[in-house]
This record gives sequence, structure tokens and C-alpha cells, in this order.
Amino acid sequence: MLMFKDQVVLVTGGTRGIGRAISLEFAGKGAKLVVNYTSSEEKAKALVEELEAMGCEAIAVQADISKAEDAERLTSEAVKKFGRIDVLVNNAGITKDNLLIRMKEADWDDVMNVNLKGTFLMSKAVGKLMLKQRSGVMVNLTSVVGIMGNAGQANYSASKAGVIGLTKSLAREFASRGVRVNAVAPGYILTDMTSVLNEDAIANFASQIPLGRAGTPEDVAKVVCFLSSQDSAYMTGQVIHVDGGMLI
Ligand code: NAP
Repeated sequence: MLMFKDQVVLVTGGTRGIGRAISLEFAGKGAKLVVNYTSSEEKAKALVEELEAMGCEAIAVQADISKAEDAERLTSEAVKKFGRIDVLVNNAGITKDNLLIRMKEADWDDVMNVNLKGTFLMSKAVGKLMLKQRSGVMVNLTSVVGIMGNAGQANYSASKAGVIGLTKSLAREFASRGVRVNAVAPGYILTDMTSVLNEDAIANFASQIPLGRAGTPEDVAKVVCFLSSQDSAYMTGQVIHVDGGMLI
């Protein structure tokens, strides 16, 4: 079912982990893709080839979304190539975990700059365009820990809680112009981000998941696609948990 036929989708951090699964899910549903990366050039090239082999028009754009000029350039390169942006997925994110007492100021700043400021900068750059188009959808990646907190992740949890506030505010600002903004809150998903967790942390997460397994990037990608589609036309400002029941 090509529910995104000819629609243009921009995915930040779209070449690895959850972002990669999101890019592939949209491509399988007929979208044209702009996949952003910051350092994974080889992975970006390989993904574009994979997308093209699926019959999808795609470009990869290197940009650090925590920098305003990069966010603007990424947006204008997408528009130069495809003329519009129908869906923005603010997926890029990083962790720099430590207990608060040991957390360096730079680790706080880096995480806030990518996860929260990056989402703000991309929403602003693409939002201007969507408001003019009078249509568009944004889906922001938050996290269960943005809702419940997590020892050792004060910076990350605060950034993801911020993403929820940003999502709800933009949903209210943009609704009258036909632009919807929602968030997805994944739980424990198997990607590079979680591969650094030690056995105790993994066992702790696993014991909290009623569905009894870690999530896959595809579990998240399918919900992102639903929130980007006409099937969710009456939803905005919502935070949808994709966590196997961790936060019932
Ligand atoms: P990941 O495997 O570590 O991938 C992170 C992605 O973000 C990469 O594509 C990376 O690009 C990109 N990125 C990082 N900094 C960037 C920057 N400054 N500018 C542009 N792109 C940047 O992470 P993931 O697990 O797929 O997570 C994706 C999103 O889901 C994140 O927002 C994360 O917080 C959220 N999330 C994940 C989990 C989980 O359990 N995995 C749970 C809850 C929420 P490069 O490849 O070029 O470095």
C-alpha cells in the first residue's frame, strides 16, 4: 500500500538504527527520502543505494542538526531536490550518560544541543515551509525516560522531556495551518545506542517490559509512519509509547 506515494520525507539521523528503519519503512510505502547523517557517510551512501534499488528517489545530506546553518542547509537541499517537505521525522539523538555528580558540563550541553536544540532548529527551518504549504506532519523521537526519568541519564531524560514540551507547543501553534506534530516514546530498542549498556542495565530494562522482549527499530518505524499518515489525521500533540508496556 503506497500511502506516501510522492510525498517527501526528511529523516534526521536517518541512516542508522531507528532512523534507518524509518527511512526504509517510508520508502516501502512510496515516499521520496531525504536522509540526514552527521558522520556515517559510508552507511548513508549504502542506504541511498538500497532505497534506490527499492524504486525510491533518495538523497543523503550531511548536516549537524545542532547547528542552525546546517539545519537551514539540510532543509534547503531537500527543497532544492524535491520542491517540498511533507513529513519531518526528528529522530537524531545522542546519549552521554553519567551520574549527575560526575556529569561534565560539556556532556550536558552536547546532549541538549543535539536532542532538544536540534529538534527546535529543524522544526523551525521545516516549520516555516510547512506553514506556507499549509500542510505537513512532524514526528519527534522522545523516550520513556523523558517521562519516567532514569538514574545516570539526567541530561538525556531532560532533553527528551523537553522534546515533549516542544511537541505539544508546536502542535498548538501549527494546528490552524494544517500541520500536525506528535511524538513517539520508545522504550528499550536494540540499536547502537543501547548496545553500550552493561548486562545489569539490560536485565533491569528487560524485567520492566510486560511484552517480555526488547523492541526493534521496525517496531518504532511502523508507529512513526502511522503518525505521519492520514490514518492519524485527527491526532496532534500526542506522545505515543512504543515500549512493550514498560510505562503502563
Ligand atoms: P543510534 O543508533 O545511536 O543513531 C543515532 C542517529 O542520530 C545516527 O543516525 C546519527 O548519525 C544521528 N545523529 C547524532 N548526532 C547527530 C547530529 N548532531 N546531527 C545529525 N544526526 C545526528 O540511535 P537510535 O537508537 O537509533 O535512536 C534514534 C532516536 O530514538 C534518538 O532520538 C534516541 O534518543 C531515540 N530513542 C532510542 C531508544 C533506544 O532504545 N534505542 C529509546 C528511546 C528513544 P551518524 O550515524 O551520522 O552518527
